[in-house]
Amino acid sequence: MQVLKATVAEISPLTEYVSKVVLTPEQDAEFAAGHYLQLVLGEKDKRAFSIASSPSKKNALELHIGASGADSYAMQALDHLKAAHTSQTQVDLEVGLGVSQVRPEQARPLVLLAGGTGFSYVKSMADHLAEINYDQPVLFYWGVKEESALYAKAEMEAWANSRANFQFIPVVEHASEAWMGHTGYVHQAVMKDIVSLEPYSVYMAGRFDMIGIVRDDFITHGAQREFMFADAFAFIK
Ligand SMILES: Cc1cc2nc3c(=O)[nH]c(=O)nc-3n(C[C@H](O)[C@H](O)[C@H](O)COP(=O)(O)OP(=O)(O)OC[C@H]3O[C@@H](n4cnc5c(N)ncnc54)[C@H](O)[C@@H]3O)c2cc1C
Repeated sequence: MQVLKATVAEISPLTEYVSKVVLTPEQDAEFAAGHYLQLVLGEKDKRAFSIASSPSKKNALELHIGASGADSYAMQALDHLKAAHTSQTQVDLEVGLGVSQVRPEQARPLVLLAGGTGFSYVKSMADHLAEINYDQPVLFYWGVKEESALYAKAEMEAWANSRANFQFIPVVEHASEAWMGHTGYVHQAVMKDIVSLEPYSVYMAGRFDMIGIVRDDFITHGAQREFMFADAFAFIK
Protein backbone atom coordinates (compact mmCIF):
# COMPACT_ATOMS: atom_id res chain seq x y z
CA MET A 1 0.00 0.00 0.00
CA GLN A 2 1.25 3.45 -0.95
CA VAL A 3 0.32 6.65 0.89
CA LEU A 4 0.06 9.59 -1.50
CA LYS A 5 -1.11 13.15 -1.75
CA ALA A 6 -2.91 14.21 -4.91
CA THR A 7 -4.59 17.20 -6.47
CA VAL A 8 -8.02 16.92 -8.07
CA ALA A 9 -7.49 17.65 -11.77
CA GLU A 10 -11.06 17.06 -12.97
CA ILE A 11 -14.58 16.30 -11.79
CA SER A 12 -17.15 15.84 -14.55
CA PRO A 13 -20.52 14.08 -14.92
CA LEU A 14 -20.71 10.69 -16.67
CA THR A 15 -24.47 10.41 -15.99
CA GLU A 16 -26.90 12.18 -13.68
CA TYR A 17 -25.62 10.03 -10.78
CA VAL A 18 -22.06 9.07 -11.70
CA SER A 19 -19.07 11.42 -11.67
CA LYS A 20 -15.65 10.96 -13.19
CA VAL A 21 -12.80 12.19 -11.00
CA VAL A 22 -9.19 12.49 -12.15
CA LEU A 23 -6.50 12.75 -9.48
CA THR A 24 -2.92 13.83 -10.07
CA PRO A 25 -0.68 12.18 -7.45
CA GLU A 26 2.44 14.04 -6.41
CA GLN A 27 4.51 10.93 -7.23
CA ASP A 28 3.88 7.95 -9.52
CA ALA A 29 1.08 5.69 -8.23
CA GLU A 30 1.88 1.97 -8.01
CA PHE A 31 -1.04 -0.44 -8.29
CA ALA A 32 -2.32 -3.43 -10.24
CA ALA A 33 -5.36 -3.55 -12.51
CA GLY A 34 -8.36 -4.18 -10.24
CA HIS A 35 -6.93 -2.53 -7.14
CA TYR A 36 -8.79 0.16 -5.24
CA LEU A 37 -7.73 3.25 -3.35
CA GLN A 38 -8.99 4.84 -0.18
CA LEU A 39 -9.75 8.52 0.06
CA VAL A 40 -8.78 9.52 3.57
CA LEU A 41 -11.38 11.80 5.16
CA GLY A 42 -10.17 11.19 8.71
CA GLU A 43 -7.92 8.81 10.64
CA LYS A 44 -10.74 6.28 10.91
CA ASP A 45 -12.78 7.42 7.93
CA LYS A 46 -11.46 6.07 4.64
CA ARG A 47 -13.68 5.64 1.58
CA ALA A 48 -12.94 2.89 -0.94
CA PHE A 49 -13.12 3.49 -4.70
CA SER A 50 -11.88 1.27 -7.52
CA ILE A 51 -9.25 2.76 -9.80
CA ALA A 52 -10.78 2.87 -13.30
CA SER A 53 -7.57 3.71 -15.14
CA SER A 54 -4.87 1.27 -16.19
CA PRO A 55 -1.76 0.88 -13.97
CA SER A 56 0.34 2.19 -16.88
CA LYS A 57 -1.17 5.64 -16.15
CA LYS A 58 0.83 6.34 -13.01
CA ASN A 59 0.22 10.08 -12.85
CA ALA A 60 -3.54 10.30 -13.54
CA LEU A 61 -5.85 8.16 -11.42
CA GLU A 62 -9.43 7.96 -12.70
CA LEU A 63 -12.37 7.19 -10.41
CA HIS A 64 -16.07 6.71 -11.21
CA ILE A 65 -18.16 7.65 -8.22
CA GLY A 66 -21.86 6.84 -8.14
CA ALA A 67 -23.47 9.20 -5.65
CA SER A 68 -27.06 10.03 -4.87
CA GLY A 69 -28.59 11.22 -1.60
CA ALA A 70 -27.05 14.22 0.13
CA ASP A 71 -25.43 12.38 3.04
CA SER A 72 -24.48 9.13 1.38
CA TYR A 73 -21.04 7.56 1.80
CA ALA A 74 -20.16 8.40 -1.80
CA MET A 75 -21.65 11.92 -1.82
CA GLN A 76 -19.61 12.92 1.23
CA ALA A 77 -16.48 11.68 -0.54
CA LEU A 78 -17.44 13.57 -3.70
CA ASP A 79 -18.08 16.76 -1.69
CA HIS A 80 -14.60 16.39 -0.15
CA LEU A 81 -13.07 16.04 -3.64
CA LYS A 82 -15.05 19.03 -4.98
CA ALA A 83 -13.87 21.23 -2.11
CA ALA A 84 -10.25 20.23 -2.77
CA HIS A 85 -10.73 20.90 -6.50
CA THR A 86 -12.13 24.37 -5.86
CA SER A 87 -9.43 25.34 -3.35
CA GLN A 88 -6.66 23.46 -5.22
CA THR A 89 -5.61 21.74 -2.01
CA GLN A 90 -4.36 18.16 -1.85
CA VAL A 91 -6.29 15.07 -0.78
CA ASP A 92 -4.81 12.07 1.04
CA LEU A 93 -4.91 8.66 -0.62
CA GLU A 94 -3.97 5.08 0.14
CA VAL A 95 -3.36 3.37 -3.19
CA GLY A 96 -2.93 -0.24 -4.31
CA LEU A 97 -5.44 -1.97 -2.02
CA GLY A 98 -7.37 -5.20 -2.51
CA VAL A 99 -6.74 -8.83 -3.35
CA SER A 100 -8.84 -9.10 -6.51
CA GLN A 101 -6.47 -7.71 -9.11
CA VAL A 102 -6.39 -9.47 -12.47
CA ARG A 103 -4.06 -12.46 -12.70
CA PRO A 104 -3.03 -12.79 -16.37
CA GLU A 105 -0.35 -15.33 -15.42
CA GLN A 106 -3.13 -17.89 -14.80
CA ALA A 107 -3.77 -17.76 -18.59
CA ARG A 108 -7.47 -18.65 -18.29
CA PRO A 109 -10.50 -17.33 -20.18
CA LEU A 110 -12.02 -14.46 -18.21
CA VAL A 111 -15.46 -13.17 -17.33
CA LEU A 112 -15.27 -9.54 -16.18
CA LEU A 113 -18.61 -8.76 -14.51
CA ALA A 114 -19.70 -5.27 -13.53
CA GLY A 115 -22.95 -4.15 -11.89
CA GLY A 116 -23.48 -0.38 -12.25
CA THR A 117 -20.42 1.56 -11.08
CA GLY A 118 -18.64 -1.77 -10.51
CA PHE A 119 -17.67 -0.92 -14.10
CA SER A 120 -14.73 1.07 -12.71
CA TYR A 121 -13.08 -2.05 -11.25
CA VAL A 122 -13.19 -4.06 -14.49
CA LYS A 123 -12.40 -1.12 -16.81
CA SER A 124 -8.85 -0.95 -15.44
CA MET A 125 -8.43 -4.67 -16.13
CA ALA A 126 -9.88 -4.42 -19.64
CA ASP A 127 -7.42 -1.68 -20.58
CA HIS A 128 -4.52 -3.51 -18.96
CA LEU A 129 -5.35 -6.79 -20.77
CA ALA A 130 -5.39 -4.92 -24.09
CA GLU A 131 -2.03 -3.31 -23.31
CA ILE A 132 -0.39 -6.69 -22.57
CA ASN A 133 -2.03 -8.41 -25.59
CA TYR A 134 -3.77 -10.99 -23.42
CA ASP A 135 -4.57 -13.86 -25.76
CA GLN A 136 -7.30 -15.78 -23.89
CA PRO A 137 -11.03 -15.00 -24.37
CA VAL A 138 -12.18 -12.01 -22.29
CA LEU A 139 -15.96 -11.52 -21.91
CA PHE A 140 -16.82 -8.14 -20.39
CA TYR A 141 -20.42 -8.01 -19.07
CA TRP A 142 -21.76 -4.67 -17.84
CA GLY A 143 -25.18 -4.68 -16.19
CA VAL A 144 -27.14 -1.49 -15.55
CA LYS A 145 -30.70 -0.64 -14.58
CA GLU A 146 -31.42 1.69 -17.55
CA GLU A 147 -29.71 2.17 -20.94
CA SER A 148 -28.78 5.75 -19.97
CA ALA A 149 -26.36 4.33 -17.37
CA LEU A 150 -24.14 2.77 -20.09
CA TYR A 151 -21.93 5.85 -20.16
CA ALA A 152 -18.92 4.08 -21.71
CA LYS A 153 -20.74 1.83 -24.21
CA ALA A 154 -19.06 3.24 -27.33
CA GLU A 155 -15.63 3.09 -25.66
CA MET A 156 -16.12 -0.55 -24.66
CA GLU A 157 -17.39 -1.48 -28.13
CA ALA A 158 -14.18 -0.01 -29.55
CA TRP A 159 -12.18 -2.01 -26.96
CA ALA A 160 -13.94 -5.23 -28.03
CA ASN A 161 -13.40 -4.44 -31.73
CA SER A 162 -9.67 -4.01 -31.13
CA ARG A 163 -9.05 -7.76 -30.48
CA ALA A 164 -10.68 -10.92 -31.83
CA ASN A 165 -10.65 -12.53 -28.33
CA PHE A 166 -12.43 -9.62 -26.54
CA GLN A 167 -16.22 -9.27 -26.26
CA PHE A 168 -18.34 -6.57 -24.64
CA ILE A 169 -21.89 -7.51 -23.60
CA PRO A 170 -24.07 -4.76 -22.08
CA VAL A 171 -27.11 -5.96 -20.11
CA VAL A 172 -30.03 -3.66 -19.26
CA GLU A 173 -32.28 -4.66 -16.38
CA HIS A 174 -35.29 -2.52 -17.38
CA ALA A 175 -34.84 -2.10 -21.12
CA SER A 176 -36.87 0.01 -23.55
CA GLU A 177 -38.57 -1.70 -26.49
CA ALA A 178 -35.81 -0.44 -28.78
CA TRP A 179 -33.09 -2.33 -26.83
CA MET A 180 -31.77 -5.28 -28.87
CA GLY A 181 -29.41 -6.84 -26.31
CA HIS A 182 -29.66 -8.87 -23.12
CA THR A 183 -32.13 -7.81 -20.43
CA GLY A 184 -32.56 -8.64 -16.72
CA TYR A 185 -29.77 -9.24 -14.21
CA VAL A 186 -26.29 -9.21 -15.68
CA HIS A 187 -25.17 -12.51 -14.13
CA GLN A 188 -28.22 -14.29 -15.54
CA ALA A 189 -27.12 -13.16 -19.00
CA VAL A 190 -23.72 -14.76 -18.34
CA MET A 191 -25.38 -18.04 -17.37
CA LYS A 192 -27.53 -17.93 -20.53
CA ASP A 193 -24.48 -17.42 -22.77
CA ILE A 194 -22.03 -19.83 -21.10
CA VAL A 195 -22.94 -23.48 -20.54
CA SER A 196 -20.45 -24.01 -17.68
CA LEU A 197 -18.19 -21.50 -15.92
CA GLU A 198 -15.74 -24.24 -14.96
CA PRO A 199 -12.88 -23.11 -17.27
CA TYR A 200 -13.31 -19.39 -16.48
CA SER A 201 -11.84 -17.00 -13.96
CA VAL A 202 -14.48 -14.49 -12.86
CA TYR A 203 -13.72 -10.97 -11.63
CA MET A 204 -16.68 -8.99 -10.33
CA ALA A 205 -17.82 -5.81 -8.67
CA GLY A 206 -21.21 -4.35 -7.85
CA ARG A 207 -23.60 -3.99 -4.93
CA PHE A 208 -22.86 -6.28 -2.00
CA ASP A 209 -26.25 -8.02 -2.25
CA MET A 210 -25.54 -8.68 -5.92
CA ILE A 211 -22.09 -10.16 -5.27
CA GLY A 212 -23.41 -12.71 -2.75
CA ILE A 213 -26.10 -13.87 -5.18
CA VAL A 214 -23.69 -14.04 -8.12
CA ARG A 215 -21.13 -16.04 -6.15
CA ASP A 216 -23.70 -18.67 -5.17
CA ASP A 217 -25.39 -18.86 -8.60
CA PHE A 218 -22.07 -19.06 -10.44
CA ILE A 219 -20.80 -21.88 -8.23
CA THR A 220 -24.00 -23.79 -9.07
CA HIS A 221 -23.20 -23.00 -12.70
CA GLY A 222 -19.76 -24.64 -12.49
CA ALA A 223 -17.47 -21.79 -11.39
CA GLN A 224 -14.61 -22.76 -9.08
CA ARG A 225 -14.47 -20.66 -5.90
CA GLU A 226 -10.67 -20.26 -6.11
CA PHE A 227 -11.05 -18.64 -9.54
CA MET A 228 -13.68 -16.09 -8.43
CA PHE A 229 -12.42 -12.69 -7.36
CA ALA A 230 -14.24 -9.76 -5.71
CA ASP A 231 -13.11 -7.43 -2.95
CA ALA A 232 -16.74 -7.38 -1.78
CA PHE A 233 -16.22 -10.99 -0.54
CA ALA A 234 -14.35 -9.47 2.43
CA PHE A 235 -17.49 -7.50 3.40
CA ILE A 236 -20.18 -10.19 2.99
CA LYS A 237 -20.89 -13.62 4.46
C1 LIG B 1 -13.47 -2.12 -2.57
C2 LIG B 1 -14.67 -1.34 -3.03
C3 LIG B 1 -14.55 -0.46 -4.10
C4 LIG B 1 -15.64 0.28 -4.52
N1 LIG B 1 -15.48 1.17 -5.55
C5 LIG B 1 -16.52 1.92 -5.95
C6 LIG B 1 -16.34 2.87 -6.99
O1 LIG B 1 -15.25 3.02 -7.55
N2 LIG B 1 -17.39 3.65 -7.33
C7 LIG B 1 -18.61 3.50 -6.73
O2 LIG B 1 -19.53 4.26 -7.09
N3 LIG B 1 -18.81 2.59 -5.73
C8 LIG B 1 -17.79 1.80 -5.33
N4 LIG B 1 -17.97 0.88 -4.33
C9 LIG B 1 -19.30 0.67 -3.79
C10 LIG B 1 -20.12 -0.41 -4.55
O3 LIG B 1 -19.34 -1.19 -5.39
C11 LIG B 1 -21.17 0.30 -5.36
O4 LIG B 1 -22.11 0.72 -4.39
C12 LIG B 1 -21.89 -0.56 -6.39
O5 LIG B 1 -21.02 -0.94 -7.44
C13 LIG B 1 -23.01 0.32 -6.89
O6 LIG B 1 -23.70 -0.28 -7.88
P1 LIG B 1 -24.89 0.56 -8.57
O7 LIG B 1 -25.75 1.25 -7.55
O8 LIG B 1 -24.29 1.42 -9.65
O9 LIG B 1 -25.67 -0.68 -9.20
P2 LIG B 1 -27.21 -0.77 -9.58
O10 LIG B 1 -27.53 0.31 -10.56
O11 LIG B 1 -28.04 -0.91 -8.35
O12 LIG B 1 -27.24 -2.20 -10.31
C14 LIG B 1 -26.61 -2.41 -11.57
C15 LIG B 1 -26.82 -3.86 -12.01
O13 LIG B 1 -26.22 -4.76 -11.04
C16 LIG B 1 -26.98 -5.97 -11.00
N5 LIG B 1 -27.60 -6.14 -9.67
C17 LIG B 1 -27.89 -5.19 -8.74
N6 LIG B 1 -28.47 -5.73 -7.66
C18 LIG B 1 -28.57 -7.06 -7.90
C19 LIG B 1 -29.08 -8.19 -7.17
N7 LIG B 1 -29.62 -8.05 -5.96
N8 LIG B 1 -29.00 -9.42 -7.74
C20 LIG B 1 -28.44 -9.60 -8.96
N9 LIG B 1 -27.94 -8.57 -9.69
C21 LIG B 1 -28.01 -7.34 -9.18
C22 LIG B 1 -28.09 -5.85 -12.04
O14 LIG B 1 -27.65 -6.40 -13.26
C23 LIG B 1 -28.26 -4.33 -12.10
O15 LIG B 1 -28.88 -3.89 -13.32
C24 LIG B 1 -16.89 0.14 -3.88
C25 LIG B 1 -17.01 -0.77 -2.83
C26 LIG B 1 -15.90 -1.48 -2.40
C27 LIG B 1 -16.03 -2.43 -1.27
